[in-house]
Amino acid sequence: MNTLNIPDLRGRLTPDRALSELTWLRVGGPADYLFQPADIEDLCTFMRRLPQKVAVFPMGVGSNLIVRDGGLRAVVIRLGRGFNGIEIDGDQVTAGAAALDAHVARKAADAGLDLTFLRTIPGSIGGALRMNAGCYGTYTADHFVSAQAVTRAGEVVTLTADDLNFRYRQSDLSPGSVLISATFAPPKAEPEALHARIEEQLAKRDETQPTKDRSAGSTFRNPAGFSSTGKADDVHDLKAWKVIDDAGMRGATIGGAQMSPKHSNFLINTGAATADDLETLGEEVRKKVYASSGIRLEWEIMRVGEKLGDPVSQG
Ligand SMILES: Cc1cc2nc3c(=O)[nH]c(=O)nc-3n(C[C@H](O)[C@H](O)[C@H](O)COP(=O)(O)OP(=O)(O)OC[C@H]3O[C@@H](n4cnc5c(N)ncnc54)[C@H](O)[C@@H]3O)c2cc1C
Repeated sequence: MNTLNIPDLRGRLTPDRALSELTWLRVGGPADYLFQPADIEDLCTFMRRLPQKVAVFPMGVGSNLIVRDGGLRAVVIRLGRGFNGIEIDGDQVTAGAAALDAHVARKAADAGLDLTFLRTIPGSIGGALRMNAGCYGTYTADHFVSAQAVTRAGEVVTLTADDLNFRYRQSDLSPGSVLISATFAPPKAEPEALHARIEEQLAKRDETQPTKDRSAGSTFRNPAGFSSTGKADDVHDLKAWKVIDDAGMRGATIGGAQMSPKHSNFLINTGAATADDLETLGEEVRKKVYASSGIRLEWEIMRVGEKLGDPVSQG
């Protein structure tokens, strides 16, 4: 990419920034640039002045990402302090896209509002919206009211649930748009009961998942179920870990990558894994599961960027 020279920015624009330090799996090559806007106005200015041909990739805290070893030919936008406020207004919670899910859950619980499901998800609100993150039977979409985003053209827009079109672990967002905040209307409950539930859920996680290892959570979406007519439906009650176990892939390794012995749908970096080790092992699991059960697992972890040795795009 040509050198970017964008005047009047108050945020930080860093060229050739290693992304391995910014992802939970600790893998990934550099981004052409990393931009950390100071606030909404700064982000709008940046988007307006950035040449349209330059790709933008919004990143949360990298807890659902494999960035490939060749890195990203794009400007990665990572929101920080100017975007992490959490406000309670009556029965509604509004959080900046950089706010951590865990902080939002705790603050909502203090106010007697139930967003407890967010407590054990290690991402940010931006990532929760994009992935329709969920656990223990609740999804981000469930208590969603609206979100704000800055478009690639540098305008602030309000998005409804219809705009985002939430689905299982997916939503729609126009390319290059960056989510900046979201409002939720959660059910009410006693703060003590909510904090107790949070403690229970944390304990349950530690018992069943490799929470101390470097992972990106569930590697594959749970496969859709099949109705009595044999047609695929959207219930996802068939568990990915079960079909991975049945294919004999619990504990399988390639290089520094391993399917966790504790939870077979968690792909972990045991220390020196490359993005290629992780992705190759994931693809091997998909092949083995297809051979043993006829099920085609779909990646839940997003894989982005170029493999080492991919032809470098000019620009
Ligand atoms: C130990 C562990 C447990 C997990 N458990 C769960 C779980 O129970 N349920 C669950 O759903 N997930 C789980 N995850 C996965 C992950 O935490 C969620 O998908 C989370 O929502 C990702 O948020 P993030 O901020 O890390 O996003 P990232 O991983 O940084 O990005 C994910 C996607 O969101 C987009 N994105 C992020 N921020 C923005 C923004 N501001 N604007 C536009 N797009 C944006 C990115 O472009 C990318 O497409 C787990 C992960 C780990 C490591």
